[in-house]
Amino acid sequence: MNAPLPVEVLKQHLIDPEICIRCNTCEETCPVDAITHDSNNYVVDPEICNGCMACVPPCPTGSIDNWRLVVRAEAYSVQDQLGWEELPQEKPLPVDAAAGEEGGQTMPAPQAESGLAQTAAVTVAPPGAAVPPWSAAHPYVNLYTHKTPITATVVGNYRVTGADTESDIHHIVLDFGEQPFPVLEGQSIGILPPGVDAQGRPHHARQYSLASPRDGERAGYNNLSLTVKRVTQDHGGAAAHGVCSNYLCDLAKNDTVQVIGPFGHTFLMPNHPQANLIMICTGTGSAPMRAMTERSRRLIGTADIGKLMLFFGARTERELPYFGPLMKLPRDFIDINLALSREPGQPKRYVQDLIRERAAHVRGLLADRNTCIYVCGLKGMEVGVLDALRDVVVQSGEDWSILHDALRREGRLHFETY
Ligand code: FAD
Repeated sequence: MNAPLPVEVLKQHLIDPEICIRCNTCEETCPVDAITHDSNNYVVDPEICNGCMACVPPCPTGSIDNWRLVVRAEAYSVQDQLGWEELPQEKPLPVDAAAGEEGGQTMPAPQAESGLAQTAAVTVAPPGAAVPPWSAAHPYVNLYTHKTPITATVVGNYRVTGADTESDIHHIVLDFGEQPFPVLEGQSIGILPPGVDAQGRPHHARQYSLASPRDGERAGYNNLSLTVKRVTQDHGGAAAHGVCSNYLCDLAKNDTVQVIGPFGHTFLMPNHPQANLIMICTGTGSAPMRAMTERSRRLIGTADIGKLMLFFGARTERELPYFGPLMKLPRDFIDINLALSREPGQPKRYVQDLIRERAAHVRGLLADRNTCIYVCGLKGMEVGVLDALRDVVVQSGEDWSILHDALRREGRLHFETY
């Protein structure tokens, strides 16, 4: 008598649509292009995913870390997943499959679980670390979700770029009153804009970095600030009306906002004495740098403060958010390097140019294991910044790939670009 054919069981990788904030990090990280999205959901193609886990650590919400045991022939298709509003419950497997890996075959086991993480399947190493610095405080994440958002009240909203410039960037302060919303510098929150999208579904959340330190925009208050750029053009330069950024920039004092989060467990600052920060940013990428700088400023006079070096890029001084307050900071507290690319009468300079100009200083800081590097701003800056850091290191006869690996492994090099 013929034995029944073994049923192939798949540990299917899925993304929870109720928690996902559509930040695109997973799609960018996936080394085999198994992740895709439409205007509704981010999804994983079961035909392509090899369970390598490369996408799991960078996800700021943990929505990526969902798995269902399914019969391979009945795996949820990309089309199924694109239509989901929530994850399906785990279904019981047929008896012959559930008999386990003896009768059926389980494919693919996530590599981290099977001890195979970092195998040849991961072809592209992410540029930054997937772990926080060793002395980072422990962050809270996902306290509030799409289903259970928290209401914050707007207590301030003003423009922080020159009124005569195209770049309309706002500093927005949200207060949480008596409700718990603990955060750390480098984390972000999600904002749920009111209304529905073209398909009649509620808008998905947009993510914004905190611009204030852990103890509040105003020290000791349960509030935080954001740095929001009004989107009036798409990435190609065509006219566009950004749903959430316009909503936020137009908020008035005492308006209320639906918030989810906090998010992010790696882009966090070190907390040990004498930790140094190299901060490299453009535009609204200055938000987490403002948070970290202000945290450090509030520690002046204690033993807990190391060196701060800032590379900040903008087109002109007047388009640089927080220019005035930044320039008032003591120079023995923070080493400020402004790269202006359209300042009349000045040569074009980008952050990577200044990193090279300050090579000796940067090299000195990089050689110190107490130094952490943070890069935030436009996606396109990643390559330029990495090239500049590599040049600085190579010039001194050192091997960049060894240092780069160490910076990632030790949670000392962090990117947040969008
Ligand atoms: P949408 O309605 O989503 O988009 C409208 C059109 O504009 C679309 O065509 C879209 O492709 C295009 N578009 C979207 N974003 C931009 C952009 N930035 N520039 C040009 N065109 C764009 N934004 C901030 O202002 N401050 C922050 O601190 C901040 N932090 C972020 C942190 C993370 C981790 C991530 C992933 C994003 C962050 N963003 C931040 C971007 C923010 O989440 C939104 O994407 C942005 O505000 C646009 O949303 P929107 O609803 O206004 O535009």
